[in-house]
Amino acid sequence: MSWQDQFWYGSQTCKHFLTDCDIPPRNHKTIAKKENIIGQVIEEEAKKSCARSLEEEIQSSKTLECSYDAGWQTRGTGWNYNSISGKYRHGTLIGKETGKVLQFETRSKSCSVCDLHAEGPIPVHQCTQNWDGSSKAMEPDMAMSMLHKMKDSGHPVQIIHGDNDSTTSSSLKLEFPEIRKKDDKNHIKKGISKKLYTLATKWKELKSQSSVIPYLVRCFMYALAKANTSDDVHKGLSQIVPHIFGEHKLCSDDWCSFSRDSSNFRFKHLPNGQPLKEEGLRHALEEIIEMYKKRADQLVEIGSTQGNENFNFIVSSKAPKNRYVKLQHSLQAATLSPIPVFLASVLSETVSGKPHDKG
Ligand SMILES: [Zn+2]
Ligand SMILES: [Zn+2]
Repeated sequence: MSWQDQFWYGSQTCKHFLTDCDIPPRNHKTIAKKENIIGQVIEEEAKKSCARSLEEEIQSSKTLECSYDAGWQTRGTGWNYNSISGKYRHGTLIGKETGKVLQFETRSKSCSVCDLHAEGPIPVHQCTQNWDGSSKAMEPDMAMSMLHKMKDSGHPVQIIHGDNDSTTSSSLKLEFPEIRKKDDKNHIKKGISKKLYTLATKWKELKSQSSVIPYLVRCFMYALAKANTSDDVHKGLSQIVPHIFGEHKLCSDDWCSFSRDSSNFRFKHLPNGQPLKEEGLRHALEEIIEMYKKRADQLVEIGSTQGNENFNFIVSSKAPKNRYVKLQHSLQAATLSPIPVFLASVLSETVSGKPHDKG
């Protein structure tokens, strides 16, 4: 087991692993000393990795188009929200053409060395605390910081994909009015699904069969995927509600087979193969569609933050959530907490170096 492995997984995990293998483990203090040395090297490497990826990105496209998303270790677990992980976030800017990390930032509200020595003199250490505002404000702050770094390096971002986090959007408008903002596919999909599941509490047709809502979401995403202009967005979205209520005049035969064989036409994913019937539901769906049509400009050629989500997944799998909880009172946590991000950033050149799917 290499030093890097021990560093990655933490001294306790390594100790258990080596003990199980009947190999004498290294002392945790020795590992902690090495962590400081390795940590700096990894951070330097991560920065170089970003610089190489930026070179590659600007070679691949004249327009610098990036996606942004933030992640934190507690996402999805729910049970340790008040632990150190809730005070720590990372953000990445990923190039659309290469799918590689071009910038990264971390924000941490705490440092376990400072916490441990809260009563007495604090020893000299590499303090990990770099934030004392609210957790919510970390996200826009990291986004602005990365965009400024890109601008200062002579490669300003021209188009950005991200979720609809309102504070990030307003900071963006204020500080970078020249950057074009695109909505992001994953967040739009989550948004429309959520709206439909909320409607399902009132309208039983939506929940009469588990395939109904996923089918409506697919129709919705398909209409956006093939739109090249805001008129296309309007047209595509206008077809959905009449289609699922059995009126096929607006449908085109590339996705609806009614015009080809109307007598045998059945809806595979709707109850009993039949169109939906509830008028109240129809009105509610039309209202949702109208809302999206108003934002048609932002829905043209939607971007994707899939690369950032993959990256966040790598970070969370390399830095298991339970380890943060176990380590939060130990000295190691101080140097470990931001490191998985840097390390994952280096790895992202090979691991998540996959261009966004263009679908
Ligand atoms: Zn500190
Ligand atoms: Zn149709």
